[in-house]
Amino acid sequence: MLAYRYWGGRELRLEETPAPVLGGEGALVKILACSICGTDVRMYRFGSEKTDRGRIVGHEMAGRITELAPGLPGGFSVGDYVSMAPAIGCGECYSCRKGHTNMCDRLATMGFQYDGGFAEYAVFPKKAFLMGNVYALPPVPDPVPFTLSEPLACVINAQSYLRIEAGEDVAIFGSGIIGCMHAELARSQGARVFIVEPAGERRRQAGELLDGVTFIAGEEEGAAREIIRLTGGKGADVAIAACSAGSAQRDGLESLAKCGRLSLFGGLPGDGLGFLDSNRIHYREIGVFGVHASTPAQNRAAMELLHSGKIDAGKFISKRYPLSEIETAFKEAAEGSVLKAVVVMEKG
Ligand SMILES: [Zn+2]
Ligand SMILES: [Zn+2]
Repeated sequence: MLAYRYWGGRELRLEETPAPVLGGEGALVKILACSICGTDVRMYRFGSEKTDRGRIVGHEMAGRITELAPGLPGGFSVGDYVSMAPAIGCGECYSCRKGHTNMCDRLATMGFQYDGGFAEYAVFPKKAFLMGNVYALPPVPDPVPFTLSEPLACVINAQSYLRIEAGEDVAIFGSGIIGCMHAELARSQGARVFIVEPAGERRRQAGELLDGVTFIAGEEEGAAREIIRLTGGKGADVAIAACSAGSAQRDGLESLAKCGRLSLFGGLPGDGLGFLDSNRIHYREIGVFGVHASTPAQNRAAMELLHSGKIDAGKFISKRYPLSEIETAFKEAAEGSVLKAVVVMEKG
């Protein structure tokens, strides 16, 4: 089968490789589709210390079970359409016991420490079944949009800390797929949403997909000033840095009302030091929240939101690529010319 592997540095290669064999545990899954995450793009552009060498990457998967080891929980059968929360906790450490399995001390993630979904087949490990990470997809004609459950789950995780209420002002920095999904989720809570996006073409792309959102170009560091002006001088109740830029974190903090909440959604390349004015956080009683990955429950909640149509995943998928053209898909995703690229495996 074809598989896309990470070899350290910035080296990713599409290779012919034997299909995985089920070693008596877990399930063999024929991958239908796997979407390209911002984390994958960061690996492609800057490399990744967190990823095993030789690992098949990709973690936003939808597939069908073709072989199943006996004795797994969840009532799955061969032929079921499935997806999974890719971050698998150990179930035993302090974070896991508190329910934050995405914060596990021994976290192992598909596409990082397990072979992932940019391949024709993947093994869903036994541990993923035991921890409740694997879930069934509804029987719909096109399960491909469910690959967006995972990024949406991360958005749900971030907003669980932000507690957005109806009538609040939410400022989102970055109009990529994550920014767009944050906007949709915040709007579904009754919030008024602003998106700061300096790149004109990206602003136009997102503007075509989102209703009722005010876009701000935020040129020459005027983003925070503009948000404060548009919110009658008070600032936003919530700011979300939905891109990997320190300036977005800084502008997010500056745009906040007193007692506002800031989400640092996008991780920064490098050490991430030195962007936030801690006295501003102190004197204005700002809450700052990190977020990393998502739990199985949040992945299921995301899938339900997509299935109900409350959030329309299909409109965010701008392009589908066959696995043989995955290099083009990564190139275009890295250039930012597609909002969300999904790799769809060839039939056969
Ligand atoms: Zn992802
Ligand atoms: Zn754990």
